Amino acid sequence: MPELRQNPVNKEWVIIATERAKRPHELARRNAENVRLPSYSENCPFCPGNEHMAPPETRRIVRDGRWQVRVVPNKFAALSGEGEVFRRVEGLKRSVSGIGIHEVIVETPDHSQAAALLNPQDLELLVQCYLERYLTISQDPRIELITIFKNHGLRAGSSLEHSHSQLIATPIISPEIRRRMEDALRFYDDEGQCLFCKVMAEELADSIRIVRETEHFVAFIPYASLSPFAMWIFPRRHMASFGEIHPDEIHDFAQLLKVILTKLYYGLGNPDYNYVIRSSPSENRYSRYYHWYLSLIPRLTRVAGFELGSGMYINVTLPEANAEFLRGVEPPGESSDT
Ligand SMILES: [Zn+2]
Ligand SMILES: [Zn+2]
Repeated sequence: MPELRQNPVNKEWVIIATERAKRPHELARRNAENVRLPSYSENCPFCPGNEHMAPPETRRIVRDGRWQVRVVPNKFAALSGEGEVFRRVEGLKRSVSGIGIHEVIVETPDHSQAAALLNPQDLELLVQCYLERYLTISQDPRIELITIFKNHGLRAGSSLEHSHSQLIATPIISPEIRRRMEDALRFYDDEGQCLFCKVMAEELADSIRIVRETEHFVAFIPYASLSPFAMWIFPRRHMASFGEIHPDEIHDFAQLLKVILTKLYYGLGNPDYNYVIRSSPSENRYSRYYHWYLSLIPRLTRVAGFELGSGMYINVTLPEANAEFLRGVEPPGESSDT
């Protein structure tokens, strides 16, 4: 019997369509092994030697005399970094000047390297760079919300092969984020605890949807996962803002992200995916009711008319089976230590 489940955080409903259940290998990308990129591309603005093709950098992290991670303004930025925030209301027409920051974080000098295959130290440099940019941009009084995200592959909306993440800082908080904050506040007022801490405690108690636990983080497939293999990584320690992460937690987070990306890479044939760090708005940095996390969505199926029309989702896999499958995926040459 199919089952409708509700996600406690975003309140979305999903039909877990077990009758139509697909096996992981049916969802995996085929012929992934055939896609082999060169380690340098002369037309790529993110390759070493082509730095002049992108706007002047905002930050570089150097290792062994060459840059490992590089931050540049987006050449086709969605928002402008110069100017002040003005709001305008004219009848029902409401607008805000398009002030904000849109940066690209180049994750590696190697054009062919997928994020999943970066070594853990390089992934840690990347997370460190996320944090530096996050903290610096948080100080800009024009900014309300900072979103750090990654699009991997065409189905995830990425148009450039060279592995990169992005950061967009906006002068407003979207209604979706506002609604989540309000729901979390209501839960806190009613129950006297953080909704996210509670979700994590329940997932740990159930244990069947956990993919991997570390000292400071938990990666799991949510009970009402909206799409196959959609995953959350929660910090165990309560903190609303990504900006509050400690150095030892960064190390742990990067290690876990490496494990998760590697499992997807080998288990599902290097699928396209998005991930996003869902941090609190700047004004809620020390909130007791909001809790930051990373949301990762492999793009294995497409959102279609039913989802658009109803606001409900159909997941053709069982979250518990997704977690079990990923727990069992080991990169070639590594033994199981789960
Ligand atoms: Zn490149
Ligand atoms: Zn919490």
